Amino acid sequence: MNHQSQPLSSGRHSDKSLFDISIPIQSGMVQWPGDPPIQIETTLDVSKGDPATVRTLTLGSHTGTHVDAFSHFNPAKGSLDEMDLSPYLGKALVVSIPSVKEITGPLLEQSITGMLDLDIHALRGQRLLLKTKNSDTPWFKNAFNPEFCHLNPNCVPVLEKWGISLVGIDYLSVEGYDVNGAPTHHALIQAGIYILEGIYLGDIVPGWYELLCLPLKIHQGDGAMARAVLRAL
Ligand SMILES: [Zn+2]
Repeated sequence: MNHQSQPLSSGRHSDKSLFDISIPIQSGMVQWPGDPPIQIETTLDVSKGDPATVRTLTLGSHTGTHVDAFSHFNPAKGSLDEMDLSPYLGKALVVSIPSVKEITGPLLEQSITGMLDLDIHALRGQRLLLKTKNSDTPWFKNAFNPEFCHLNPNCVPVLEKWGISLVGIDYLSVEGYDVNGAPTHHALIQAGIYILEGIYLGDIVPGWYELLCLPLKIHQGDGAMARAVLRAL
């Protein structure tokens, strides 16, 4: 597999097979319209004589790179601390679906089956990360863009047919901005498919990886930030 440079210069990666696909959390960063603005303030500061440096974070539970618990839309389906961890860890296929604003079921099917050497049965129980036009630019540095690429709910029967355990998208939501009633979220939750949002795949070459992505354990969480990393296989 051919890899380009490290996707984000956030820290040192002594292990060259690791790719950080999380976005940095910082004050004033892009957020879903209506969610709380992200603010990070220094409360205690060693350089000002305090015994330690401690910052206060003010942010929503769906900030940056994060997962949605099923309870985000369906309280009967379980909050974050009740959800299985296994979909967050394991083999993941990164697939490129460039240019479009909306991924439909037929387009998803065509994009996957068009991948050379892919055994469709190998997808069963695995994760699917969608590299779209959103990753053409480091979107997390820009203001909210309502034209981001998202999933039509008719993708869900396709994902279900393949046995996908988790789907990831490279913007803040799997759902289109102007879509009423969150049909894609509801269909994914109904199908028991886990949701990872807010990743950045700009430097990631499509293909198989290992996904490592654990959300914070927030009591009765509706979602939580996660550090998402790909390991080359
Ligand atoms: Zn979310």
